[in-house]
Amino acid sequence: MNRIELFDKLNASSEFDILKRIPYRYEDLTPKKDEYSLLDNQRVCGCYEVSNLKSNLIKKIIRFEGYNKIDNISHPFLIFNQIFYLSRLKNKKTVFIVGHFSKRSGAVIVSAIYELSNRFVQNGLKPVYRLPAGVSQSAFCYEINKILNGEMMNYVSSPVPKLFVDKYHLIPEPEAYKIIHQPPNTKLLNYALRNIKYEQALAYCLKMEATRRIRSLFKKNTRKPIDRNKLNSLVKSLSFKLTNDQIKASKEIINDMDSSEVMFRLLQGDVGTGKTAVGFIALFANFLRGGQGVFFAPTTALVQQHYQNAIKFFKGFPLNINFLISGLSTKERNRTLNDLAEGKTNILITTQSGLGKDVKYKNLSLVVIDEQQQFGVDQRMEMASRGDCVDILMMSATPIPRTFNRIIFGDLDVSELKEFPNSFKRNVETKLIKSNDPIIDKAIKRALEIKRQIFVVAPRIQNVEDDDSSRISANEIFEEYKNKYGEEKVQILHGKLKKNEQEEIFSKFRSGEKPILISTSIIEVGVDVQDACLMIIYSANYFGLSALHQLRGRIGRNGQGSLALLVYDGDDEQAYKKLQFLATHNDGYEISQYDLDVRGAGTWAGTSQAGRDELSTLNIAQDKEIFKAAIDDAKEILDKSNSNLEFKEFRNRVLSNKKLEVILA
Ligand code: ADP
Ligand code: MG
Repeated sequence: MNRIELFDKLNASSEFDILKRIPYRYEDLTPKKDEYSLLDNQRVCGCYEVSNLKSNLIKKIIRFEGYNKIDNISHPFLIFNQIFYLSRLKNKKTVFIVGHFSKRSGAVIVSAIYELSNRFVQNGLKPVYRLPAGVSQSAFCYEINKILNGEMMNYVSSPVPKLFVDKYHLIPEPEAYKIIHQPPNTKLLNYALRNIKYEQALAYCLKMEATRRIRSLFKKNTRKPIDRNKLNSLVKSLSFKLTNDQIKASKEIINDMDSSEVMFRLLQGDVGTGKTAVGFIALFANFLRGGQGVFFAPTTALVQQHYQNAIKFFKGFPLNINFLISGLSTKERNRTLNDLAEGKTNILITTQSGLGKDVKYKNLSLVVIDEQQQFGVDQRMEMASRGDCVDILMMSATPIPRTFNRIIFGDLDVSELKEFPNSFKRNVETKLIKSNDPIIDKAIKRALEIKRQIFVVAPRIQNVEDDDSSRISANEIFEEYKNKYGEEKVQILHGKLKKNEQEEIFSKFRSGEKPILISTSIIEVGVDVQDACLMIIYSANYFGLSALHQLRGRIGRNGQGSLALLVYDGDDEQAYKKLQFLATHNDGYEISQYDLDVRGAGTWAGTSQAGRDELSTLNIAQDKEIFKAAIDDAKEILDKSNSNLEFKEFRNRVLSNKKLEVILA
């Protein structure tokens, strides 16, 4: 891959865009003391001399004997599916290896091999990045190294106003980036991360505070009051009775919509509490007052599902519902855009496609954001700016404790669904197991026998060179399952497939024609397949607890007993405890609280609750103090940006939305 392709894949238009990709965690590469008899799954990490090198190119297996000079111990080593390592291994050569002992294979399964001269090996700390498929960690590090030693670094400076750089003793920006990408040790790393954390928090809080101020500036005086009788006739027409919580939340939302203040409300409710219905009711109310509404969902599959549901939900009512996703034919797309711009469309259901430049709304007055944690604050601001005084309803199954809500959203109102609909009695048993546990095979055979669908989830689609560790890929599982359960039963789904291919896969899965679906966390959010009763999540430690809780919410939707198997082969005690917690807890709030607390303990996990990139280095629980300072500083910047040029520049750069700048000026 050449440089242009690399930049393209990373969606980067400058070297600085690359530099700003902060590792999401760091792998410890300090050598571990070796032992004669390793336990199953025990981690191995150190220098080994290679001998007896053998390979089978067809089966893509490499074997060798590794001798650890320091501890005077040898082990057999095995490499699967990573033939590219062969050129790096020569007899008598000493390399640095990370892997896990597998009792079943009687060998150490290698996850990564490094040259001894590797910078990260020497420092004992290796950054790990979230990268798109096709970009390896090593290719990325190579590029970063080039950038760190290049001209551009002379132009890198902190975006933070000098007043705050001095106040918090932030280190020079180029130095901070150098340490973050090539950390010499943990202590310096933590110090450098403060820079980025504060920058991210300040920018984020400024956006929150700005949108809060703008909301309170505008009053919606011109809208028709919502006709409650007509609203009731919709509710009566439904095939089910709303739960009390759904009624209460709907009332709160309708009242907000009727008031002259712009609505900014979060609807929280565990997976399956019926948030969609409440969102639809809000959209209907908005239709009754003569406005256009949009329902945003994070994935194409979800949009299609919501669209089907909406058609049923509004049956017999004169609404025009449309959907917009990428991959429509030009003709379909143009028609959809036309209907929307002319106001023929009352409700649009869409992904972020609905924010395209050519998408024009007529009289947009309500935005409903499903799975809001999947969208970023910029997207939210963009949504709101597509109409005047747009009411916003966000929905999420990842409950955030109230104190954090204030930090993440500035100010907002919250409605909650605690009660599950009668029809939705969840009975999901969760077990934490090893990948060689026979229960997997048993459970699959049983599910196939009773003709139920099976979700199989892996953290990524395929292996790439030098990737961080023992994550299993969906492709590997796909191969294994095809052999075991028959090609005609197994499908693999990933984001790269075309829309119609995805649709076909889903429909074959739903109908039970092909009952085993292997995918990444694409299916995390909202996909509703009533009869699915088994979910197997491989390398489960790679998912956040809240994400895992969401995932298992995909099964047992028909109320029948179902089983979620969390597969974890590693030996990280923290990961084990975390997964065990999930296996023994079912309450979304407790789970999310635990998630907030443990994240960042030793790692620097992203806070996906608040949008992927903007807060990638921050942990909401641990970095509360940084957020608190940032909120105060953001207020000061907005208060004084008319008299302080530096503040004004910072504000305008962060908001980067001309409309907002004008309003705040
Ligand atoms: P979530 O809150 O996870 O988004 P959904 O909106 O997908 O949940 O609802 C889960 C299922 O419950 C859907 O099949 C939906 O049609 C159904 N449902 C929602 N509200 C009720 C209700 N009051 N009574 C019965 N079923 C309901
Ligand atoms: Mg949902």
